[in-house]
Amino acid sequence: MTIPDLSYTYSNLPLQFFSHQEPIPVKSPEMLLFNHKLVEQLGIDDLQINDWLKICSGNQIIPNSKPLAQAYAGHQFGNFTMLGDGRAILLGEIRGKDGLLYDIQLKGSGRTPFSRGGDGRATVKAMLREYLISEAMHGLGIPTSRSLAVVKTGEQVYREKNYDGAILTRVAKSHLRVGTFEYAYQFTTLEDQKALTKYAIERHYPELRNADNPALELLKAVQQQQINLIVDWMRVGFIHGVMNTDNMTISGETIDYGPCAFMNAYDPETVFSSIDTTGRYAYGNQPKIAQWNLSRLAIALINQIDENQDKAVQMAQDVINSFPHSYQKEFLQMMRNKLGWLGEEQGDKLLIDDLLRMMQRFLADYTNTFLGIASGEFQNESIFESLEYQDWYMNWLKRASLNARPLEEAIQQMSQYNPQFIPRNDKVEAALDAAAEASDFSLFYQLLEIVQDPYRPKTGFTAYQFPPINGDEGYQTFC
Ligand code: AMP
Ligand code: MG
Ligand code: MG
Repeated sequence: MTIPDLSYTYSNLPLQFFSHQEPIPVKSPEMLLFNHKLVEQLGIDDLQINDWLKICSGNQIIPNSKPLAQAYAGHQFGNFTMLGDGRAILLGEIRGKDGLLYDIQLKGSGRTPFSRGGDGRATVKAMLREYLISEAMHGLGIPTSRSLAVVKTGEQVYREKNYDGAILTRVAKSHLRVGTFEYAYQFTTLEDQKALTKYAIERHYPELRNADNPALELLKAVQQQQINLIVDWMRVGFIHGVMNTDNMTISGETIDYGPCAFMNAYDPETVFSSIDTTGRYAYGNQPKIAQWNLSRLAIALINQIDENQDKAVQMAQDVINSFPHSYQKEFLQMMRNKLGWLGEEQGDKLLIDDLLRMMQRFLADYTNTFLGIASGEFQNESIFESLEYQDWYMNWLKRASLNARPLEEAIQQMSQYNPQFIPRNDKVEAALDAAAEASDFSLFYQLLEIVQDPYRPKTGFTAYQFPPINGDEGYQTFC
């Protein structure tokens, strides 16, 4: 077998940042899903599927490889905790055809020194879910970790009852998290903290390599990447569900698809996660939580920003305080794109706010409202029958006409920002249940195909464009 050429830049960090650990072999591995396109993009498509099965199950250790589990900490629902890869192993890093370095990680590959009370394993249903949603996010053009494979282990995993176990092979620009920096700040020396900053800059922001104040510049850069990411989530109605600081990456990619979901009717308070009882991670709270998480990053970097504490705090505070303004700017721009407007006009924010308020009042489907504005085809949405909407629509037309171009061009712009298809929660659950419980992948493949290409209209799939009649009432997700 041809072995992919793996690097281990992460293991040049001080020893406290990881622990060497091999995946624990499993009983009878079976490949459930394999991402041919992704291995092609990574330039590692010359391996046989049988070899991949051995690697992605953890049953074969790649010769000369040095797998490891990463140490990190994090604020979970606001509380600081020591964490680390409790069920993940970094097999190594690989250089993609785009020249960038990618982590290849197994998730669900057995216990590690960071497992605490956990079994180090994962269920088939949860790993299929991560595969589906991460590939959907990629299809939507949103930065995300990718999924290379799901292997069924042939072993049972106990979660209130027994389920089939699985391992996901995850690919990401790195698994550096805000929580990695929090770990460094709490448990390592200033010298080690600086080593981490240097590593993060080399890997994700090489343009900052020679910055006078690397830590401060890193904070600014991560903040901007995260703003762009959250705005993208808001654009498609994505609710991450568990925005703990250990689930926020330094690269600006979405990671950890546990309790995530997509919003149907527009309501900023939408929450699906069963453990998020206070709505901390509700759809409309995501920007505020991102800012809070970034303030944790700022604290973790504070000793590197300036030797003078007061000065350091002031500089970090200035960055964090600029979040709302920068976010608002990007958010408005995103909404202008969804509405097919070029440039900036005085009344834009007012018109956008009016639309969102109307959508909330009419319980209008977020995705379909924008499609309806663009197409004039108003299916199942009472919002379009209201006088208010007709009034608003005239103003929308007026605003679009300021761009002095045919309306078709505005509509063309809209089609690039408004998906025709999102992974509707009920469709996701139906596909996962059939696959995980009856080994029937037909719904899964169909849904995957649709959500991987979400902007292009497709005939014959209207069932995938609407929420269930009850609007997902009572729908719950789990970590
Ligand atoms: P998450 O809620 O997925 O972000 O996970 C939080 C922490 O719990 C991470 O450090 C995980 O590695 C760890 N963890 C989650 N599930 C397990 C498991 N089954 N066994 C060991 N550790 C786990
Ligand atoms: Mg996590
Ligand atoms: Mg998780």
